[in-house]
Amino acid sequence: MAIRSRFDTHEVFNQSPPYENVDLYSSDAPLMDAVKANGGANETVAMSAFGKAWGTAEQFTLARQANENPPKLKTFDPKGFRSDTVEFHPAYHGFMQASVADGLHASTWSETGARAAPPAEVLRTARFYMAAQVETGHLCPITMTRAALAPLAAEPALAKKIAPKVVSRNYDRTFRSWWEKSGMTLGMGMTEKQGGTDVRANTTTATPDGDGYSIVGHKWFLSAPMSDAFLVLAQAPKGLTCFLMPRFRPDGSVNALWFQRLKDKLGNRSNASSEVEFTEAFAWRVGEEGAGIRTILQMVQLTRLDCAVASAGLMRMALVQVVHHCRYRNAFQKPLYDQPMMRAVLADMALDVEGAVALVVRLSRALDHASTDDREAAYARLLTPAAKFWICKLAPGFIFEAMESLGGNGYVEESILPRLYREGPVNAIWEGSGNVMCLDVLRALKGKEEAELFVDLARAAGIAVDPANPQATSETGARSTVQQIALLAGASALRESAPFVIADTFLQTRIKKKHGAFYGTAGLDSQTIDLLLQRVSPEA
Ligand SMILES: Cc1cc2nc3c(=O)[nH]c(=O)nc-3n(C[C@H](O)[C@H](O)[C@H](O)COP(=O)(O)OP(=O)(O)OC[C@H]3O[C@@H](n4cnc5c(N)ncnc54)[C@H](O)[C@@H]3O)c2cc1C
Repeated sequence: MAIRSRFDTHEVFNQSPPYENVDLYSSDAPLMDAVKANGGANETVAMSAFGKAWGTAEQFTLARQANENPPKLKTFDPKGFRSDTVEFHPAYHGFMQASVADGLHASTWSETGARAAPPAEVLRTARFYMAAQVETGHLCPITMTRAALAPLAAEPALAKKIAPKVVSRNYDRTFRSWWEKSGMTLGMGMTEKQGGTDVRANTTTATPDGDGYSIVGHKWFLSAPMSDAFLVLAQAPKGLTCFLMPRFRPDGSVNALWFQRLKDKLGNRSNASSEVEFTEAFAWRVGEEGAGIRTILQMVQLTRLDCAVASAGLMRMALVQVVHHCRYRNAFQKPLYDQPMMRAVLADMALDVEGAVALVVRLSRALDHASTDDREAAYARLLTPAAKFWICKLAPGFIFEAMESLGGNGYVEESILPRLYREGPVNAIWEGSGNVMCLDVLRALKGKEEAELFVDLARAAGIAVDPANPQATSETGARSTVQQIALLAGASALRESAPFVIADTFLQTRIKKKHGAFYGTAGLDSQTIDLLLQRVSPEA
């Protein structure tokens, strides 16, 4: 004891305890309000069970491990035979298993490939939002798997065989043909070296061959290469066409997907993204020859929603980490949490998370009802690209502000902030980058219902807009228009789910007045600040 005290140089104090062993649902008032307002009022117990299971200290540790130990490509086996397999850390498999067991990959579909009844989308979005707060890399194959059943509807016979394997709650990681497995996951391959946005420039060819096609070419990005099959675009005789390319040929032999290397990515490190060559790989056609873009867009619409949900989840985790830290951290004899300027910054950030979560959950309700309600279909059509644009663009800067509010600890790998920060940009870049989302919104605004929806959202906010205004619908004006649509929809979603003052403050500070370039410039009053911070977490 005497020796110990001699070398004890200092006492450690004024550090926050780790943020862990929390119920990610019951501690999140904006999420709970949004779920209740959009059809999930009876699901509190199930949601809270999910929130507790994902918010444990062990989950946060596993997430760190999954990202500190990125996947490795095994191009060859020890004897020189091609292997073309990827090895993942057990923590990654653990997340896949948990997400599949909870249906994040398929709970919005039935065994037949038809859409599950409402509020399936709302509940899945809430779960996806919570999972994204803990580990985002594995959600790449999860989102692709859930989205892939949409284009497969174009081939009912194929969908009938595949759907039961997809909706299965078993994560079967064995390297076998999908028909031998108890569950399967799906990926997608569109992007080639010469272009990812303009997929019409794809050079990969598809030649009719027996019951399928023979595919020759490459993909420059093919994430989750251990998926059991991929939706792939290739040039068939009648034009760009969508295909389903399995890892195993119908005769049981390994299909000709030759992986060249894995991307060395900024973030998303638990997940593998490969470069691949197809050397006469077998694939089934999905949809008509020449209808490839139209067919695969069914999938992309759903993954775009998940990009927005995941980015909102990243923002939520960054926010709650910093609010938690500031409660415990004193500077100048007072917790940071009680410093007026810090409160103004944190509350301003909290307001964006309020808007983001309200919007993605409301958008999920639109998807729940789109097949029976034209207005909801128009909402889903217009707001999917608009929400992806706004939320995914917001996330990286938002996470940086949280990092700065954590001080030096926020910049250090052991805190979760660097991982969240690296994860931020990818949701904006893939599945249609920012400008591409804006072009898509301009296309959507040509629809009568979508244009009327824009007018109505604006009218409810006391603003007049003209969706035919040449400046607003020009490519140079598109970013302003799309941001306005997303913010108007965010304010409207908040009116349905959050206390009035939150919705009104969002409207006043994000739409009516020009917000400053940084958080803390919204001029919030102290009562609103108090309310926003209380809603971040009960401990606050
Ligand atoms: C981690 C990661 C994983 C990925 N996984 C996959 C995958 O599994 N499968 C897959 O197919 N792809 C995948 N991608 C690729 C991704 O979808 C593409 O990178 C993306 O679509 C952009 O394509 P590109 O890189 O060719 O850029 P480009 O198409 O060259 O675009 C570059 C920029 O130009 C902008 N732009 C394009 N056209 C216009 C226009 N008309 N007007 C104004 N601006 C325009 C875009 O918005 C973008 O910002 C992945 C990417 C990443 C980073």
